[in-house]
Amino acid sequence: DDLVRAVNGGVIPEDTAPAGWQERITQGRFDGKTIIVTGAASGIGRATASRIVREGGRVVAVDISAEKLEAVAAGFPEGRVVAVAADVTKQADIDRVIAAAGDRIDGLANVAGINDDFSPIHETSDETWDRVIGINLTGVFRLTRAVVPSMLQAGKGSIVNISSEAGLRGNASGNAYTVSKHGVVGLTRSAAFMYAQQGIRVNAVAPGGVATGIPFPPHVSETGSARLQPFQAAIPSLATAEQLAASITFLLSDDGVNINGAVLPSDGGWSVQ
Ligand code: NAD
Repeated sequence: DDLVRAVNGGVIPEDTAPAGWQERITQGRFDGKTIIVTGAASGIGRATASRIVREGGRVVAVDISAEKLEAVAAGFPEGRVVAVAADVTKQADIDRVIAAAGDRIDGLANVAGINDDFSPIHETSDETWDRVIGINLTGVFRLTRAVVPSMLQAGKGSIVNISSEAGLRGNASGNAYTVSKHGVVGLTRSAAFMYAQQGIRVNAVAPGGVATGIPFPPHVSETGSARLQPFQAAIPSLATAEQLAASITFLLSDDGVNINGAVLPSDGGWSVQ
């Protein structure tokens, strides 16, 4: 909570989900399955890893921050999480992730992402563009490329990519971020179409506002600012990372059996406007 407060100007969401909804979950949708989750040391990735473990799965938890990852992994039951400190932009790191996963990879959640530059196009540097596209889009491509061979061999697999409200339309987030998240939608649809006959499903989740470590654009995170009000009015509610994990694991699991190539908004209704 302190991290969220620090990066998001004091904004903490009111949890509008029905009280106790998480405690009532009893499904074992990931029994015996191995799922790779990137961005697992924080926010949505961490909540997704936690939900998968809670439902019987083994998680290969990937994050660039070795320190945060170790702390998070220590909180999971012995043997259920393999922590791999890795940068999704580096192929050698991805090779280590695949080696850690072993022969069987049932699923991949591409959650790692950054949003740290809110420049308009005419002020966007090459460095920002390459860095944001490199992590948010090329990283998703590289991980997908790495897991597909074993999924093809198994004749099944499920991949969930994290896009954004910013992947659906023009957005107050930075230019490179908005483009990267549109790219994730394109990659999702392309892969879904390509592997549909071979049992691999590829879907995307498009979160609205979620209280995590990732910063909101400055003009929406100024607490008490008049400029925050239209943003708050536009978003029915800020979600928690656990609410996003519920959407991601729905698509990752066999519950999503007939869903392929979909981009599921998980935003409390923001995108219907
Ligand atoms: P977060 O900052 O809490 O978590 C992101 C994690 O990704 C961090 O642990 C970070 O260390 C890791 N990461 C960053 N670069 C990496 C790299 N090169 N290799 C491996 N790991 C790396 O943020 P979050 O809100 O949980 O974000 C998760 C995803 O959700 C992102 O793709 C983000 O764009 C997307 N998203 C978030 C929101 C929101 O409001 N929080 C809204 C829409 C989309």
